[in-house]
Amino acid sequence: MSLISKTGAGQSAPSKRPIKKIILISLAIIIALFAAIALWLSQTVATHHPTEASPLGREISQRTLDQLLKAEQTGESAVATKLDTLVAADWQVPLSGLLNLQHPKAKSAGLEDHEAEIQVYAFHLQHPKYGDFLIDTGVSTRFAKDPKSVGVPGWLEPQLGIEKLKMRRSTEQFLTELQRPLKGVFLTHLHLDHISGLPAIPTDVPLYTGKGEAAEEYFLYAATNGTTDTLLDQRPALREWQGKILDIFGDGSAFALHTPGHTAGSTAYLIRSEFGWVLLTGDTCHTNWGWQHNVEPGQFSSNQEANRESLEWLQQLAKRHPQIKVQVGHQPL
Ligand SMILES: [Zn+2]
Repeated sequence: MSLISKTGAGQSAPSKRPIKKIILISLAIIIALFAAIALWLSQTVATHHPTEASPLGREISQRTLDQLLKAEQTGESAVATKLDTLVAADWQVPLSGLLNLQHPKAKSAGLEDHEAEIQVYAFHLQHPKYGDFLIDTGVSTRFAKDPKSVGVPGWLEPQLGIEKLKMRRSTEQFLTELQRPLKGVFLTHLHLDHISGLPAIPTDVPLYTGKGEAAEEYFLYAATNGTTDTLLDQRPALREWQGKILDIFGDGSAFALHTPGHTAGSTAYLIRSEFGWVLLTGDTCHTNWGWQHNVEPGQFSSNQEANRESLEWLQQLAKRHPQIKVQVGHQPL
């Protein structure tokens, strides 16, 4: 018995060491994996670029906005801006990103995923007193033709579908024709198709975004925030709108509306243009079908439920004031 037990003890001692070693190595791998995931998660913000509170914009209540919209546009007291659409490029992206295809209305309409035709825009706002602004940035030739030079890594290029961009009027062209300095850029959000015109825009032009846009955490930003950081490099801190409804110039001519959901700081803009009120929804609604049927975007949104609520809020605003023309994020009015 003693021999057997000695032999047994003698055999098991060396075989336990490799098991211990395997357990220790496994533990080290698990800890390293957790550390890597934690590091990755800590880097998933939309951008690491600094932010500050916007000095522009006076918060007003929804009631005040409603009263303004109901009031007759009386010559002197109402300031109208010029608003032009810069159609920067035609593009194709999956419909499942643009629309929630699981929505009952999308299902009953028989919508199926396919490459959908869209456009990329910027909007030129010309205020009679405060000058020229862009809402979003269009597409710069440099971004479309040489994405690597503006921080898009080679592996990301096909994921973004940059090669499918068919340029119409670049941001460079627009600025050359404008021949006046831009006073600022009001962004609807920080997704790359909305800041792809930045390489054409002088680095000292102030940029405005919705509150919480830069700091939003979403796993897909791990792929894009390096490019976003590069596009914003050397620029002043992003100026974040403070409030739900902001009278941008304090004269009732332009409003920033916080519509979180597509991204945390998504912002729609309501403009009193010389041709009447125009609501620029940004990507709170990408398509005309989505607006007409009140169906929120699909996989491109980081928080679909919040996006649905924001879209509903804009829908109610447009219903109360049917004179408002609605320009969705990626299709013509
Ligand atoms: Zn977009």
